[in-house]
Amino acid sequence: MDTSDRDPTPTPAALPVPLVWSAHCLLHQPLAEIWLGVRTDGTEVAARATVIKEAVLAAGAPLVEATAHGDQTLSRVHDQAMLDYLRTIYPAWVDAGYTIDPGADRVVPYLFPTQGLLGGMELREPAALHARAGRYCYDTMTLVGPGTWEAARGAVDAALTAVDLVSSRQTRVAYALCRPPGHHAGRDAFGGSCYLNNAAVAAEGLLAAGHRRVAVVDIDAHHGNGTQSLFYDRGEVFYGSVHVDPGAGWFPHYVGFADELGVGAGTGANRNEPLAAGTGDQGWLAAVDRLAGAVAHFDATAMVVSLGVDAAADDPESPLLVSVDGYHEAGLVLSALGLPTVAVQEGGYHLDTLGGLVVATVSGLSG
Ligand SMILES: [Zn+2]
Repeated sequence: MDTSDRDPTPTPAALPVPLVWSAHCLLHQPLAEIWLGVRTDGTEVAARATVIKEAVLAAGAPLVEATAHGDQTLSRVHDQAMLDYLRTIYPAWVDAGYTIDPGADRVVPYLFPTQGLLGGMELREPAALHARAGRYCYDTMTLVGPGTWEAARGAVDAALTAVDLVSSRQTRVAYALCRPPGHHAGRDAFGGSCYLNNAAVAAEGLLAAGHRRVAVVDIDAHHGNGTQSLFYDRGEVFYGSVHVDPGAGWFPHYVGFADELGVGAGTGANRNEPLAAGTGDQGWLAAVDRLAGAVAHFDATAMVVSLGVDAAADDPESPLLVSVDGYHEAGLVLSALGLPTVAVQEGGYHLDTLGGLVVATVSGLSG
């Protein structure tokens, strides 16, 4: 391992990783989250992207504007009906008058067609738009507004542009500043402040570019239930995640346990490392090390890093207490695999420290 570049605050010339960016990512303004029935200020705000962009550019990364990509790769990840829903629901919501009566300025579900509700009956398309709002969205925290689709689609373009840079060997590592994040979004389900799964799209893009086996390593504080579900039965994509233990009461609560190992062709290509609150650098890095070992064992030819920095000590969303040096070290551990790597932004919510944490991790990933 190269130990010459361990300064977590590198000089500008020290970050040779392109920052891929779409200005559309700022258009998503959720305004709020409905938490236990209470309207609270959301934490997934556009300022997150702004502070990260400023910090990464200040560290010397070259800026690459995301280029528009067609829906081919995106459609491999998500159900077309959900894509159509996300593209059209907000204008339909406004046209139907919901912003005036009852005064809902964002699309928010009130009813979810769970297995218990359906009782084995087929899932029909509900006539009422307010009933459709729970068809794909699985929580009340992930609101849809006027720029949500454009931002989510811009994030996908950023991820795919980063894939292009890596696949064409212009760089070994590229960083896509995706916002909104994506790892909680599955084939026909979205939630957890995520709409389209940027990391999964990047993995599909790398496969399409000729990579035989792709590993997705998720270091966000929370389990990437969407990414896991998308690749759970796939043998050519490994998913490994280190996260705060859902069994101890943390989002996404229902999945992310250590005994989830994949099924069918994907058996053995899924690995979860749930950690207790207060784990800190040593235990967290040991788990990152185990994931890196699993990626090497999987014989991956390329890697996607779901780069969430909400495991950091100052973050309001998780209790894992990882330091900026810990994040840098995680980047170095993953860099030592020597793989073509696309890093995709996931969570991270503490605006004062967010930029430094991302710079530390990306500089680690660059080796
Ligand atoms: Zn998270």
